[in-house]
Amino acid sequence: MKKSKAAVVHQQGGPFVIEDIEVQDPGPGEVLVRIAASGACHSDWHQVMGEIPKPFPAVLGHEGAGVVEELGQGVTRVSPGDSVMLSWFPACGTCFYCQREQHNMCETYRPFLESGTAMDGKSRLYLKGEPLTQFSTHSTFAEYAVVPEQACIPLDPEVSMESASLVGCAVMTGVGAAMYTAQIKPGETVAVFGCGGIGLNILQGAALCGAEMIVAIDTVPGKFESARAFGATHTINAKEDTLQALLDLTEGRGVDHVLDSTGNPKVQENAIYPLRRGGALTLVGVAPHDAKVTFDTFRMHHQETRVLGCFYGTGNCQRDFTRIIQLYKSGRLKLDELISRQSPLSEINEVYADMLAGKINRGVLTF
Ligand SMILES: [Zn+2]
Ligand SMILES: [Zn+2]
Repeated sequence: MKKSKAAVVHQQGGPFVIEDIEVQDPGPGEVLVRIAASGACHSDWHQVMGEIPKPFPAVLGHEGAGVVEELGQGVTRVSPGDSVMLSWFPACGTCFYCQREQHNMCETYRPFLESGTAMDGKSRLYLKGEPLTQFSTHSTFAEYAVVPEQACIPLDPEVSMESASLVGCAVMTGVGAAMYTAQIKPGETVAVFGCGGIGLNILQGAALCGAEMIVAIDTVPGKFESARAFGATHTINAKEDTLQALLDLTEGRGVDHVLDSTGNPKVQENAIYPLRRGGALTLVGVAPHDAKVTFDTFRMHHQETRVLGCFYGTGNCQRDFTRIIQLYKSGRLKLDELISRQSPLSEINEVYADMLAGKINRGVLTF
């Protein structure tokens, strides 16, 4: 058992409170990781606000990197001292979905994403003897995490923990959405709603895929400088007539792809209209769990509009995290530039305030 500082959320709406918690020893197939850095993702905030409903108290955080400290029984993938990136949705490699190359649908791990526990149905985190809800099978807003060994992806120790931590959610999700879910092709036209941590990664994923026109759309024009650095060729202030602006850019036809990173149902509902015939809308951002939208299905039939859900970038963490690091090392993907605030865990409430105000690309917490 380890004593660990952690950011605990006691009730819906927060705040995060720094507490001394107990982290249990790793069980069979589990690994104790000393967290070095954790990104502050909007999905954690959805859980704080009850939009992803889970019990409190909880320790959130799911975008982490660190160093392996102890192994449970039977662990073979990593050794103590290894640097690792953490995947909040590991894949077993052998289930129905993994055998069909749909690793992000792995049915071995799916129940524990929902339950907020380790794989035996119990928490590994306790506060004064009371169990704490985990985020997925781990919680990275704490000095230590106990995770399944499949959640650990070896990291080149030359890469900084702060940059590598973001691979675990924002980069895999955004770049994967462009590459694997939307499958953007060279020369295509792309519009991206929202220029936060996920949106910037969709932009750089679209650029990597060879898109010719990449349009970044946001209500905060202050984000457009970063958007251009991440691959946007055009920007539109969402307070203007976005549909008309996109039609004007494409000779009235519309774009090949729209990708939504906002998770805002109103944005999602209207996002089919800027598509050309045969175009695809990819829903990347997390909507509130009870959100519903209405689509114009007559138009979708006539225009062969496709609407695609995107979960964790349709990725395979064991393959793609390493691939992302290789692309970063060869200068083809940006990680360092995603970080616009780096702060100790004790400043987590301020980091989230900055994120909600649209002031930062990504905030990273350090330990
Ligand atoms: Zn996330
Ligand atoms: Zn599986």
